[in-house]
Amino acid sequence: MIEDMLRTPAAVQDAERHTAHNYHPLPVVISSAEGAWVTDVDGKRYLDCLAGYSALNFGHRHPTLIAAAHAQLDKLTLTSRAFLHDQFADFCRELAALCGKDLVLPMNTGAEAVETGIKVARKWGYQVKGVPAGQANIVVAEGNFHGRTTTIVSFSTDSDARADFGPYTPGFRIVPYGDLAALTEAIDEHTVAVLLEPIQGEQGVVVPPEGYLHGVRLLCTERNVLFIADEIQSGLGRTGTTFACEHEGVVPDMYLLGKALGGGIVPVSAVAADTDVLGVLQPGQHGSTFGGNPLACAVATEVVRLLATGEFQRRSAALGERLQAGLRGLIGKGLVAVRGRGLWAGLDIDPALMSGREACERLMERGVLAKDTHGSTIRLAPPLVITEEEIDHAVAQVAAVLAG
Ligand SMILES: *Cc1c(COP(=O)(O)O)cnc(C)c1O
Repeated sequence: MIEDMLRTPAAVQDAERHTAHNYHPLPVVISSAEGAWVTDVDGKRYLDCLAGYSALNFGHRHPTLIAAAHAQLDKLTLTSRAFLHDQFADFCRELAALCGKDLVLPMNTGAEAVETGIKVARKWGYQVKGVPAGQANIVVAEGNFHGRTTTIVSFSTDSDARADFGPYTPGFRIVPYGDLAALTEAIDEHTVAVLLEPIQGEQGVVVPPEGYLHGVRLLCTERNVLFIADEIQSGLGRTGTTFACEHEGVVPDMYLLGKALGGGIVPVSAVAADTDVLGVLQPGQHGSTFGGNPLACAVATEVVRLLATGEFQRRSAALGERLQAGLRGLIGKGLVAVRGRGLWAGLDIDPALMSGREACERLMERGVLAKDTHGSTIRLAPPLVITEEEIDHAVAQVAAVLAG
């Protein structure tokens, strides 16, 4: 421990002195960034292969997004939803169109979008489906990550995320991810929703077996249950399509969005669904002081417009092939498995070689920032503005780290 402190640069110690230790950041102190690159306080540059857990899909300080933020800062930043403002309608209309849904409900963080989805599904269950009061259940998957609120950690299967935060919110059933038979079994007449990530990001970019999402869709339709897709990390271009559900041609009843929606500038999340679902909310039943604020709407509208061109989805698909192929070439050379879609990859390092944390520290020394998830798994999720050469560079650094 003392040795650790001696090796830790003063800037790192300073940055951590007065904070709760709810994170274990890599020892790098970043002071500026542009596109796919960040620079630390000593002027060293790093290729950002985490992109704020996909909050920075368009790279750091995308010029269009920064311009929108600047312009809005000079006009109006907050009204609360007690009043309307001139940035609200465009945002809601354009995001709803991108999602192919009637309505949008803006919030701030991803966890709030998940909480909103849960509340809406329960209300829908009681008012539309006819579930008896207080009896609604929601089916979720093992290995899920949906955020950090007390209700959400109640149905986490990660003991770090859950332990000692009880008493837990009831009303959730957990089934193995990717197992349609188990899901079929878990649904009963009081089930109001199935809540899933179409690809489990925090779990290590776990892609479900082919046909799973399609099966979930059919099952939900057949049993009159809402399919809620948590696309907070998988959505908005990350996997080579606007939504990861598109890989199986599936449209959920509700999209939960966040992270990249705020353009890496402000927290913006949203729930998108049709009127028969989101229409259950009446004034006073749900809300947020900052949700849908003018600054958030101004930035997020430009995010939606960037996505509406399809350019970022195409980049992610094409460059993702290159990334995945490069990484697959390292299987047997220190990697035991590579998973992913688009510019999103989960790498399992041979645990005999090193931990994921150690790999990320060595990558950092080589000027590439990535993050471990569980044990020896690391995740790569570079900004979608990354170039072919930069991808090759990142893969080469991974190869060098594995080669020791
Ligand atoms: C990050 C994430 C969340 C929570 O988002 P916050 O903005 O951190 O609250 C929820 N679901 C998924 C799939 C995520 O990746």
